[in-house]
Amino acid sequence: MITPVLPTYSRAPLHFVKGEGSWLTEADGRRFLDMGAGIAVTLLGHCHPTLVQALTDQANAVWHVSNLYEIPQQEALAQKLVDASFADTVFFTNSGTESCELVLKMARKYWHDKGQTDRIEIVTITGAFHGRSTGAIAAAGADKLTEGFGPLMPGFTHVAWGDHEALKAAITDKTAAVIVEPIQGEGGIRPLPDVCLKGLRDLCDTTDALLILDEVQCGMGRTGRLFAHEWAGISPDIMMVAKGIGGGFPLGAVLATEEAAAGMTKGTHGSTYGGNPLACAVGCAVMDTVTEDGFLDHVTGVAGRLRQGLEALVASHPDVFSEVRGTGLMLGLVCVTPVGDVVQAAYDAQLITIPAAENTLRLLPALTLSDDEASEALSRLEQVAQAIEKAKP
Ligand SMILES: *Cc1c(COP(=O)(O)O)cnc(C)c1O
Repeated sequence: MITPVLPTYSRAPLHFVKGEGSWLTEADGRRFLDMGAGIAVTLLGHCHPTLVQALTDQANAVWHVSNLYEIPQQEALAQKLVDASFADTVFFTNSGTESCELVLKMARKYWHDKGQTDRIEIVTITGAFHGRSTGAIAAAGADKLTEGFGPLMPGFTHVAWGDHEALKAAITDKTAAVIVEPIQGEGGIRPLPDVCLKGLRDLCDTTDALLILDEVQCGMGRTGRLFAHEWAGISPDIMMVAKGIGGGFPLGAVLATEEAAAGMTKGTHGSTYGGNPLACAVGCAVMDTVTEDGFLDHVTGVAGRLRQGLEALVASHPDVFSEVRGTGLMLGLVCVTPVGDVVQAAYDAQLITIPAAENTLRLLPALTLSDDEASEALSRLEQVAQAIEKAKP
């Protein structure tokens, strides 16, 4: 018999009743070190006092009014994002998927309004993940996302990850835009090297194709810069954001230059909830915290120590782990044994990790992770490696 909740998820039998910083308490009282942050969402840890304050203050004022009216919290958050990034303008959504839908529309409208109505193709990279809407699954293109849901939205060209020549060939005068994740998240923490991102920017400049970055997972300070593309010294025309921006409150955004956003005039797009006062009050508190002096230095510092420990872990357990990948606090451990077994062994060690493609274990902790907590995560991972070695035949 079908469960009351549509059974689309495979869930671990864990039920957390309280969160505090990087720690989650299970109903049975066990404390878990959270190195997953709800898939890179609880950016400042659980129940960060500043966010709790921002949310409760706003909850006591007004929750929702709709975009039929002015929303000062939304304007404030947009201003903060514009001030801190390449963007001139921001649209607020409730998720990464919704941000994906808008970037697809924005790219096509841009060329439509230039009179190039056949310039509708969008180039993406295999192994990408852009969300679960029909547009987002067509964009990513993997069978595991699209099977059974056809006919899919047409117009996407999928280029193999790491194949520069194919990418060059795929971008033509029919290409409206290219969408890439600077670091693939679900795809197994696969960073696009800075030179590739620079090369891609150049390619887009020569062909006029719009460069759209999906920073839903890697953005908002996770890599030690506010946005991951800053490491490569380039900027996109349009960018998708979600996950960490709300620190756990559902919030997403599309950032764009004035030029790229030119087609999105009154009535061309909208959202009932998008940018509502509760979400934007929390988003402002997240932005203020992440852009505080020294905050990103903390991320880089703790990430460096964590990474060093992970490299040592890989070196001492080559039969369990083979490689460390990623930047800042977006780290992947490529596993030799099935990643599902490693995630399970980590649960036994009261450590929360997240599996990804390419048999990769993801570590996406809160950016407030302390050095002591990073050490604790490493010692629990050592325990995990030993347990897996012991269980091997
Ligand atoms: C999670 C994710 C999305 C989809 O976001 P949702 O909020 O789940 O809709 C899109 N792109 C990337 C890179 C993601 O990691």
